[in-house]
Amino acid sequence: MKEHLDTIPVNEAFEKEDECPFCYLQRQVEQKAIRYALGPSASYMEPDVRAATDAMGFCRQHYKKMYDYGNSLGNALMMQTYYVGMRRELDAQITNFITPEKKKLFGKKPEGELPLLQWLRQKNSTCFLCSKINYNMDRYYATYFHLIKDEEFRKKAEAGKGFCMHHFEKLLEVAQEKLPNGQMDWFYSTVLTQMQQNLSRVHGDLDWFIEKFDYRNASAPWKNSKDAVSRSMQKLKGLYPADATYRQD
Ligand SMILES: [Zn+2]
Ligand SMILES: [Zn+2]
Repeated sequence: MKEHLDTIPVNEAFEKEDECPFCYLQRQVEQKAIRYALGPSASYMEPDVRAATDAMGFCRQHYKKMYDYGNSLGNALMMQTYYVGMRRELDAQITNFITPEKKKLFGKKPEGELPLLQWLRQKNSTCFLCSKINYNMDRYYATYFHLIKDEEFRKKAEAGKGFCMHHFEKLLEVAQEKLPNGQMDWFYSTVLTQMQQNLSRVHGDLDWFIEKFDYRNASAPWKNSKDAVSRSMQKLKGLYPADATYRQD
């Protein structure tokens, strides 16, 4: 498989002093994807894009983000054709629906999941934006494992703040396949230590944030704790809760 490497954005993300460079990249990719889907290029009017959104639909969090982004007409048009396909498939499911009891009468095994339930599971698990985001993030993980062969990049990574728990998991998962043999020791010793140290730092920020509510500390400095709640949430789940809503310009 040919690898597409995006060294520039990955290098940039590791220079941002973010709690997690992959959160930083994912936010970029997500906003780009939302803008692509609903923005000025009106790609939802292109037949191949519409075929993809008709097939996949969107997940809960992305419908909310698309609603917030704006372009109600674009949202309406995409849902209109999605509804057509979804209702056609549901009608077929219902036409062919056989209750487990009837199945037994026909001498068929009643076990196994209802086809209707299988269809629902599939329908409810796909998202056009998630699939675009995952595709790009996979390229970024691959790029990271390519870049760590370079000493300069390794130094940059060592100076970073580690990762959020979500991307820590992703990184270890991808490492099983992409981690270059010569960098195993560096990768595990650096990343594991970095996770311990930086979780301890953020935990400490959280402690001081709470301490600041004690009246005896009212005039004490905030240190790094003013945004401790949002950064602690990011470290845990890989989100930016303090971000302004992303809207069309
Ligand atoms: Zn992250
Ligand atoms: Zn999604």
